[in-house]
Amino acid sequence: MLLIFCPCCGVERPETEFRYGGEAHIARPADPSALNDEEWAQFLYMRSNTRGLYAERWRHAHGCGRFFNAVRDTVSDKFICTYKTGEPKPDLEALAREAAK
Ligand SMILES: [Zn+2]
Repeated sequence: MLLIFCPCCGVERPETEFRYGGEAHIARPADPSALNDEEWAQFLYMRSNTRGLYAERWRHAHGCGRFFNAVRDTVSDKFICTYKTGEPKPDLEALAREAAK
């Protein structure tokens, strides 16, 4: 069973308590009405979907209910780290170098 560390609760819990929330650090446009359809579609649907380390939003749906961010390796499905929303995105290249050691 995959365990995920919730940075809000401070405990590891089974993945069944969590819900995936998509790519992290996607900022909503300040004035959506100023965007054309293509720009709006880009915001809504287009994600980097990279292979390897990926910053994602997760929600501890059956726990504290809070959203947080995580860096997960999409190849191995291993969680590298989790951090609270509002905290800066970790340096993914540095984490990848560290994980390769
Ligand atoms: Zn929690």
